[in-house]
Amino acid sequence: MKLVSNSRGSKMYIGGFPFTRHMMKNETIYWRCVQFRAFRCPARHRQRRTTGMLELVHSEHNHGPIQNRRKRGTLKELMRQRAMGQLNRNSDNTY
Ligand SMILES: [Zn+2]
Repeated sequence: MKLVSNSRGSKMYIGGFPFTRHMMKNETIYWRCVQFRAFRCPARHRQRRTTGMLELVHSEHNHGPIQNRRKRGTLKELMRQRAMGQLNRNSDNTY
């Protein structure tokens, strides 16, 4: 497992996915996938502050690893399509 911290120490790679520090509570740090908001990704980990040991909470992502920088517009496009899908659903409900 490769752990990477940036200068702010709020980002970590777990299994090739970047995670962001969500909150700290008592002796536990909660890490969430950086895509949790964009994709509502359920992947998350807990980390013991005392030992640094990671505990698996939910390991599965509902998306692939974001590794291809060339597809810069992909997420934006996906969000746009999702927004349009919601609009369509809303209009369906009016009938
Ligand atoms: Zn994820």
